[in-house]
Amino acid sequence: MLPRRYQRIRETLDRRQPDLTVLTEDVHKPHNLSAIIRTCDAVGVFEVHAMNKVVDGEDLPTFTQVAQGSEKWVELHRHTTIEGAIAQLQARDFKIYAAHLSDRAVDYREIDYTQPTAVLMGAERWGVSESTADAVDGHIIIPMLGMVQSLNVSVAAAVVLFEAQRQRLEAGFYQQPRLDEKIYQRKVFEWGYPDLVDHYQERNLPYPQLDEQGQIISES
Ligand code: SAM
Repeated sequence: MLPRRYQRIRETLDRRQPDLTVLTEDVHKPHNLSAIIRTCDAVGVFEVHAMNKVVDGEDLPTFTQVAQGSEKWVELHRHTTIEGAIAQLQARDFKIYAAHLSDRAVDYREIDYTQPTAVLMGAERWGVSESTADAVDGHIIIPMLGMVQSLNVSVAAAVVLFEAQRQRLEAGFYQQPRLDEKIYQRKVFEWGYPDLVDHYQERNLPYPQLDEQGQIISES
């Protein structure tokens, strides 16, 4: 890997936020999931969670050109039930806020996004399901002052995520690395040497160490 690329990878990982994520509830149009992931990369979100019902063996949404390759830089965790996804995130002390046009929703800018936060986005047509709305920690709304009742789901995700980024920039969250060191090193290798990843994983081998220029220095 070229030193310049190594530096770029490190700068990006230095700004990744392990405690800010998005959970999608059956967002099934590939271009929407792709656009959300692309926004997550820009905001510095480390991982995204997507729950999709598999109907009649139909495939989960795949990535489109809209993602512009950002799916390589944001970890995607797939879930088959929304209950399971919520339970996993709550066990990790995330507060889950559903972007949901309900009576108890508060303005999205009222939330403190410097806390571990998952923003839950509802399906294109049906929005957030009733049982999910009951299971989360709160509801947020982006005020709509026009004729149309809702935004496109990827646009709504971007609005909320950039507010989270604004708060985290102000709190200095992008000034020092926040990822766990082991995860950080794993990602440096996976992003820097994508063609070698299978080789190590198939043989169940640890990734090799890198020197300060990002070159492989030891084979274990
Ligand atoms: N008919 C659906 C409803 O009533 O929820 C509209 C779904 S909307 C196209 C898809 C998703 O985008 C919503 O479930 C929500 O997560 C998000 N969304 C869209 N506009 C929003 C807004 N103004 N405030 C909060 N979330 C919004």
